[in-house]
Amino acid sequence: MSVRQPQALVVVGSINVDLTALVERLPAAGETVGGGRLRRDVGGKGANQAVAASRLGARVRMVGAVGSDADGVWAVEAIRNAGVDVGDIATVDSPTGTALIAVDEAGENQLVVCSGANALVDAGGIAVGTGDAVLMQLELPLDVVRAVVTRAPGFVALNAAPARRLPEDLVERVDLFIVNETEYAAMPELRAARRVAVTYGAAGAAMIAEGAETARVPAAAVATVVNTVGAGDAFSAALTLAILAGAPDEQALRTACAVGAAAVARPTAQPPLAPLELYAVAEAGGCSPR
Ligand code: ATP
Repeated sequence: MSVRQPQALVVVGSINVDLTALVERLPAAGETVGGGRLRRDVGGKGANQAVAASRLGARVRMVGAVGSDADGVWAVEAIRNAGVDVGDIATVDSPTGTALIAVDEAGENQLVVCSGANALVDAGGIAVGTGDAVLMQLELPLDVVRAVVTRAPGFVALNAAPARRLPEDLVERVDLFIVNETEYAAMPELRAARRVAVTYGAAGAAMIAEGAETARVPAAAVATVVNTVGAGDAFSAALTLAILAGAPDEQALRTACAVGAAAVARPTAQPPLAPLELYAVAEAGGCSPR
């Protein structure tokens, strides 16, 4: 098998500030619930995946947009501090993307996403070099995703979340789709895709090629599940890097599941992570790097 070594992983995607209220129970329509505790985190699937890939040891460039406000400065700083090249994050005339999240004691949540600056990412200015690999999600406008995917000369991975109807040319071009089981069910067009990794939360993940399952692995054991938000982002970054490093599907899935498990053991959607090789080794040896 040929091993592709990308010059860099280019993550083109969303950057949000996540404002999370931790509450006893979620409000019904028109109701006010008091007693909330507030968390403020940098999020967005694009930022989460760029940060995860960098912490796993990849050279990562992020392409995206924030507003010319304090949240934008803060978000870019946080992404830079994780080792990501932020030179292609534009500052645009719109508020920084914001997700308003309420989480109850059972972990059930409600979300409102205001895409703000993310809606103004300009596909025209996005350069992807020969040999660069691309990782995207669906939190940017579909025409931006389509333009980047069409122009990218190398490997393209698309975490197709949140689910939406995908045009045929995009399904044909993408080398690796990553979705959770709900998204897979919502996008029947993915049955025609070359390679789709489907995640099943605590039940692991599978690889499906042109509608037929080719590999399936269980989730890695986690002593205490603290927060599952962002597990899919850590998994997506890890799987993309493992496949790019030449790992066969089953081994790549195992490594990505080990990284997903490390993510759910932490309270944040941008968890600390060890270099990718340690998860591959730990999985083979049956222990965890953290
Ligand atoms: P999110 O949107 O919340 O980031 P997702 O729905 O995209 O997540 P999941 O299927 O929940 O993705 O999780 C991705 C991967 O993370 C799973 O395939 C699994 O490897 C790991 N994972 C998730 N939940 C658990 C868990 N409870 N225990 C162990 N591993 C888990």
